[in-house]
Amino acid sequence: MNLTGAGIAALVGGAWPDTAQAAEGQDADLVVLNAKVYTVDSRVPRVEAFAVKAGRFIAVGNTAEMKALIGKGTETFDAKQMAVVPGFIDCHNHAPGNVLLYEVIVGNPYVVEFVTIDNIVEKLRSKAAQTPSGTWVEGYFFDDTKVKDDRLLNIHDLDKVSKDHPVVVHHRGGHTSFYNSKALEMAEINKNTPNPPGGTYDRDADGELNGRVTDRARASFNNIGKRPTFTAEQTLQRNREGLAYISKQFVRYGVTSVHHEGGDLFALQQVRTRGDLLHRVSYEADGKVLEAMIAAGIESGFGDEWIRFGATSEHTVDGSFSERTMALSTSYPGVTPSYKGNVTETQDDLNAWIERAHRAGIQVNCHANGDVAIDMVLTAVERAQKLFPRTDARPKITHCTLINDDLVRRIKAAGAVPAPFTSYAYYNSDKFKYYGEAIMERCMAYRSFLDAGIVAAAGSDFSPGPFDPRMAIQGMVTRTGWDGKTWGANQRISVEEALRVNTINGAYNSHEEALKGSITPGKLADFVVLSDDLFTVDKDKIKDLEIVRTVVGGATVYKT
Ligand SMILES: [Zn+2]
Repeated sequence: MNLTGAGIAALVGGAWPDTAQAAEGQDADLVVLNAKVYTVDSRVPRVEAFAVKAGRFIAVGNTAEMKALIGKGTETFDAKQMAVVPGFIDCHNHAPGNVLLYEVIVGNPYVVEFVTIDNIVEKLRSKAAQTPSGTWVEGYFFDDTKVKDDRLLNIHDLDKVSKDHPVVVHHRGGHTSFYNSKALEMAEINKNTPNPPGGTYDRDADGELNGRVTDRARASFNNIGKRPTFTAEQTLQRNREGLAYISKQFVRYGVTSVHHEGGDLFALQQVRTRGDLLHRVSYEADGKVLEAMIAAGIESGFGDEWIRFGATSEHTVDGSFSERTMALSTSYPGVTPSYKGNVTETQDDLNAWIERAHRAGIQVNCHANGDVAIDMVLTAVERAQKLFPRTDARPKITHCTLINDDLVRRIKAAGAVPAPFTSYAYYNSDKFKYYGEAIMERCMAYRSFLDAGIVAAAGSDFSPGPFDPRMAIQGMVTRTGWDGKTWGANQRISVEEALRVNTINGAYNSHEEALKGSITPGKLADFVVLSDDLFTVDKDKIKDLEIVRTVVGGATVYKT
């Protein structure tokens, strides 16, 4: 079955409100006129105007009809035939605002940009110069395929930064890091150290450590070296500043709702109180917050339209797609010795974890990239449902990258909601040669999901992927990367489908489809004005559309 608009409309429930009735006796706060409005509501997919009151859409229709709702205090916006779409929803984001603000950034977080290894070393050297020896010097947002030198960063490069400091550069993908000799020495890792379960200390052709460390092996560095310390008040301050900063970035790109992977919940609430929270948050808890939810009996859905407990934070089952450590059922093409990626969790532990959250009424969420990991998650979800059936649980599979027909069938049967990578088709096309076309035809499989009636949403995974929805939509529609190469063209979806994935399907992912995700009377007035029509513009230019205005709850939070 195709995921048709009617399918979602039925889920939303209720009849289309009569426009005139909804509007009777009400002056709107805001009326948008003369626009190409793509509502993502199949009952009225295209209109030219709509009205907003008290933060919600109250009516949609033609310009003349909406003019009737203009009163003394009504703000009007003549869109001059620009396109308007619902606010974009990102269902997987680490929202690393304080990293962006306070740390050494060695790659471009937002767009494709090549850097040099010399430049990375230089940035870290200046950081080392202001850092006491023995204290970590760290770099973030490294991307191994956006390096002009066209080779991997290695231990020798990082030894040039310092011999007295432990030095690390983190890949933006979040599963691999590159260390200098001092760091490896302090962690007592040498070329004879065996790889721990779920991770590797990589070696060069001569068997010497090359500095790259993957997945669970990175835990060896957790308790060595000094890290800067902050008072509780300083930490709170930094977290507030980080969240306020990232919120500005989200709305700059038209993203109005974001699923946050954990983070400082207290700071988040303070940012909101101060008026600095510009986007809506589905808060995905882990650690002590998740434990507190379970202990207190707080289920997913608790909260309000600005900050709400959503699914759990991603529970990691395998490695990374972009860093080539995800768990495959077949060996990585061309890698010797044969390597199938990292499984980072046992089936028993996963079963227990899922059962516990599921029984507590909390939407489970697992990070599973490879087909092996997705199979493990489904096995655990099927088991939990059997032991404790819950309707409409929507187990979330973050990334859900490499599928096959059987996995798709089981995802559908479980009512699971995948949030595959969005911007990767464009941004990471330079990495897909490591998998090859046969595997790529089954990766980020939006076509397969939608054809099976699975409500796949968008998950940028920022920092790993840029969160720009324009880049995401272009990649989903073309499957062509920045380098002009096309991978897995069989997984292309239409612009209309890509828009749904990035809006209403995102709302469905957190059980909020009755509240947002389309321009429908009664829903939250979150929308974006684009400089041109994404349906008619050249598909290779979708990423260049300008975000003219971002509106959340009827209030303009960004404009050019
Ligand atoms: Zn993630």
